[in-house]
Amino acid sequence: MSEAMSDIRTKLDELERFLGSSVSDALDAALQVEIPCGESPAWLELLDVFRQEQTAEDSRQRAAASTGQLFGAPPDELNMVLTEIAGSAKERLNKLEWKDDGQNSGRVQRIFNVIDCIPRETLILYRKRVMPQRRSMFAGAMASAQQSVRKPEPANSTSKTFIMRCGKCGAPRLKKDNFTCEYCDTPYAEQ
Ligand SMILES: [Zn+2]
Repeated sequence: MSEAMSDIRTKLDELERFLGSSVSDALDAALQVEIPCGESPAWLELLDVFRQEQTAEDSRQRAAASTGQLFGAPPDELNMVLTEIAGSAKERLNKLEWKDDGQNSGRVQRIFNVIDCIPRETLILYRKRVMPQRRSMFAGAMASAQQSVRKPEPANSTSKTFIMRCGKCGAPRLKKDNFTCEYCDTPYAEQ
Protein backbone atom coordinates (compact mmCIF):
# COMPACT_ATOMS: atom_id res chain seq x y z
CA MET A 1 0.00 0.00 0.00
CA SER A 2 1.39 3.41 -0.93
CA GLU A 3 1.95 5.98 1.77
CA ALA A 4 -0.62 8.37 0.35
CA MET A 5 -3.24 5.64 0.27
CA SER A 6 -2.73 4.52 3.84
CA ASP A 7 -2.67 8.18 4.85
CA ILE A 8 -6.07 8.88 3.36
CA ARG A 9 -7.50 5.77 5.00
CA THR A 10 -6.26 6.88 8.40
CA LYS A 11 -7.78 10.31 7.86
CA LEU A 12 -11.12 8.84 6.83
CA ASP A 13 -11.04 6.57 9.92
CA GLU A 14 -10.43 9.65 12.07
CA LEU A 15 -13.23 11.55 10.40
CA GLU A 16 -15.68 8.68 10.95
CA ARG A 17 -14.70 8.53 14.61
CA PHE A 18 -15.13 12.32 14.97
CA LEU A 19 -18.58 12.15 13.37
CA GLY A 20 -19.76 9.04 15.19
CA SER A 21 -18.61 10.02 18.66
CA SER A 22 -19.65 13.69 18.36
CA VAL A 23 -23.19 12.73 17.33
CA SER A 24 -23.42 10.12 20.11
CA ASP A 25 -22.08 12.57 22.72
CA ALA A 26 -24.59 15.22 21.63
CA LEU A 27 -27.46 12.75 21.70
CA ASP A 28 -26.36 11.43 25.08
CA ALA A 29 -26.16 14.89 26.64
CA ALA A 30 -29.53 15.89 25.14
CA LEU A 31 -31.26 12.72 26.40
CA GLN A 32 -29.83 13.14 29.91
CA VAL A 33 -31.55 16.51 30.38
CA GLU A 34 -34.37 15.72 32.80
CA ILE A 35 -36.61 18.78 32.44
CA PRO A 36 -38.37 19.02 29.05
CA CYS A 37 -36.52 21.63 26.95
CA GLY A 38 -34.34 22.22 29.99
CA GLU A 39 -30.58 22.24 30.42
CA SER A 40 -27.74 20.54 32.25
CA PRO A 41 -24.08 21.48 32.78
CA ALA A 42 -23.08 18.88 30.13
CA TRP A 43 -25.59 20.24 27.63
CA LEU A 44 -24.55 23.87 28.16
CA GLU A 45 -20.92 22.85 27.72
CA LEU A 46 -21.78 21.11 24.46
CA LEU A 47 -23.59 24.21 23.14
CA ASP A 48 -20.47 26.17 24.03
CA VAL A 49 -18.10 23.71 22.31
CA PHE A 50 -20.13 23.93 19.10
CA ARG A 51 -20.54 27.71 19.43
CA GLN A 52 -24.33 27.66 19.71
CA GLU A 53 -26.49 30.06 21.73
CA GLN A 54 -29.00 28.69 24.17
CA THR A 55 -32.63 29.44 23.25
CA ALA A 56 -34.40 31.97 25.53
CA GLU A 57 -36.07 30.36 28.52
CA ASP A 58 -39.61 31.58 27.74
CA SER A 59 -39.52 30.18 24.22
CA ARG A 60 -38.14 26.88 25.54
CA GLN A 61 -40.99 26.68 28.03
CA ARG A 62 -43.52 27.50 25.31
CA ALA A 63 -42.07 24.77 23.07
CA ALA A 64 -42.19 22.17 25.85
CA ALA A 65 -45.79 23.08 26.71
CA SER A 66 -47.01 22.97 23.11
CA THR A 67 -45.42 19.60 22.26
CA GLY A 68 -45.81 17.86 25.62
CA GLN A 69 -42.12 16.83 25.46
CA LEU A 70 -41.35 14.40 28.30
CA PHE A 71 -37.67 15.14 28.92
CA GLY A 72 -34.52 16.10 27.00
CA ALA A 73 -32.83 19.22 25.66
CA PRO A 74 -34.76 21.33 23.12
CA PRO A 75 -34.86 19.55 19.73
CA ASP A 76 -34.06 22.88 18.03
CA GLU A 77 -30.85 23.19 20.03
CA LEU A 78 -29.89 19.58 19.23
CA ASN A 79 -30.56 20.37 15.59
CA MET A 80 -28.16 23.34 15.74
CA VAL A 81 -25.44 21.20 17.32
CA LEU A 82 -25.89 18.36 14.80
CA THR A 83 -25.84 20.83 11.89
CA GLU A 84 -22.59 22.27 13.23
CA ILE A 85 -21.05 18.76 13.60
CA ALA A 86 -22.14 17.85 10.07
CA GLY A 87 -20.81 21.15 8.70
CA SER A 88 -17.39 20.79 10.27
CA ALA A 89 -17.11 17.14 9.15
CA LYS A 90 -18.00 18.20 5.61
CA GLU A 91 -15.37 20.94 5.71
CA ARG A 92 -12.74 18.41 6.86
CA LEU A 93 -13.79 15.98 4.14
CA ASN A 94 -13.61 18.68 1.46
CA LYS A 95 -10.06 19.58 2.53
CA LEU A 96 -8.74 16.01 2.19
CA GLU A 97 -6.65 15.31 -0.86
CA TRP A 98 -7.10 11.86 -2.25
CA LYS A 99 -6.56 9.96 -5.46
CA ASP A 100 -9.77 8.90 -7.12
CA ASP A 101 -9.07 5.17 -7.26
CA GLY A 102 -12.62 3.90 -7.03
CA GLN A 103 -12.23 2.47 -3.53
CA ASN A 104 -11.61 5.80 -1.86
CA SER A 105 -14.17 7.68 -3.91
CA GLY A 106 -16.86 5.17 -2.91
CA ARG A 107 -16.02 5.62 0.75
CA VAL A 108 -15.80 9.43 0.55
CA GLN A 109 -19.15 9.54 -1.25
CA ARG A 110 -20.69 7.32 1.43
CA ILE A 111 -19.44 9.62 4.21
CA PHE A 112 -20.80 12.69 2.36
CA ASN A 113 -24.20 10.97 2.21
CA VAL A 114 -24.07 10.13 5.92
CA ILE A 115 -23.19 13.75 6.77
CA ASP A 116 -26.12 15.07 4.73
CA CYS A 117 -28.58 12.80 6.58
CA ILE A 118 -27.29 13.28 10.14
CA PRO A 119 -29.29 16.30 11.40
CA ARG A 120 -32.62 15.14 9.95
CA GLU A 121 -32.35 11.42 10.75
CA THR A 122 -30.96 11.90 14.25
CA LEU A 123 -33.73 14.39 15.07
CA ILE A 124 -36.41 11.92 13.94
CA LEU A 125 -34.99 9.31 16.32
CA TYR A 126 -34.56 11.85 19.13
CA ARG A 127 -38.18 13.02 18.86
CA LYS A 128 -39.38 9.42 19.02
CA ARG A 129 -37.74 9.14 22.42
CA VAL A 130 -38.56 12.48 24.02
CA MET A 131 -42.03 13.19 22.65
CA PRO A 132 -45.20 11.52 23.92
CA GLN A 133 -46.32 8.65 21.74
CA ARG A 134 -49.38 9.47 19.70
CA ARG A 135 -51.63 6.44 19.78
CA SER A 136 -54.57 5.61 17.60
CA MET A 137 -57.85 5.11 19.41
CA PHE A 138 -57.52 1.36 18.97
CA ALA A 139 -53.95 1.26 20.26
CA GLY A 140 -55.01 3.44 23.20
CA ALA A 141 -57.78 1.01 24.12
CA MET A 142 -55.38 -1.92 23.79
CA ALA A 143 -52.81 -0.19 25.98
CA SER A 144 -55.28 0.59 28.74
CA ALA A 145 -56.57 -2.99 28.61
CA GLN A 146 -53.00 -4.22 29.04
CA GLN A 147 -52.12 -1.80 31.80
CA SER A 148 -53.48 -4.08 34.51
CA VAL A 149 -51.09 -6.76 33.27
CA ARG A 150 -48.05 -4.78 32.23
CA LYS A 151 -46.50 -2.07 34.37
CA PRO A 152 -46.26 1.12 32.29
CA GLU A 153 -42.72 2.30 31.61
CA PRO A 154 -41.73 5.56 33.34
CA ALA A 155 -41.20 8.38 30.86
CA ASN A 156 -37.56 8.85 31.73
CA SER A 157 -36.65 5.18 31.76
CA THR A 158 -33.14 3.94 31.04
CA SER A 159 -34.22 2.40 27.75
CA LYS A 160 -35.21 5.83 26.45
CA THR A 161 -32.09 7.66 27.54
CA PHE A 162 -29.51 4.96 26.80
CA ILE A 163 -27.86 4.74 23.40
CA MET A 164 -25.75 1.86 22.13
CA ARG A 165 -22.63 2.88 20.25
CA CYS A 166 -20.75 1.41 17.30
CA GLY A 167 -17.60 -0.28 18.62
CA LYS A 168 -15.45 1.16 15.85
CA CYS A 169 -16.50 4.80 15.32
CA GLY A 170 -18.75 5.39 18.35
CA ALA A 171 -21.81 6.33 16.28
CA PRO A 172 -25.23 5.79 17.82
CA ARG A 173 -26.90 2.46 17.07
CA LEU A 174 -30.50 3.48 17.07
CA LYS A 175 -32.13 1.40 14.36
CA LYS A 176 -32.74 -2.11 15.59
CA ASP A 177 -32.93 -3.59 12.09
CA ASN A 178 -29.48 -2.32 11.02
CA PHE A 179 -26.70 -4.92 10.94
CA THR A 180 -24.02 -2.52 9.75
CA CYS A 181 -22.96 0.84 11.20
CA GLU A 182 -24.37 3.60 8.99
CA TYR A 183 -21.39 5.84 9.71
CA CYS A 184 -18.36 3.57 9.17
CA ASP A 185 -19.97 0.64 7.34
CA THR A 186 -18.59 -1.92 9.83
CA PRO A 187 -20.86 -4.93 10.45
CA TYR A 188 -21.84 -5.02 14.14
CA ALA A 189 -21.15 -8.76 14.25
CA GLU A 190 -17.46 -8.10 13.52
CA GLN A 191 -16.98 -5.62 16.36
ZN1 LIG B 1 -19.35 2.84 13.13
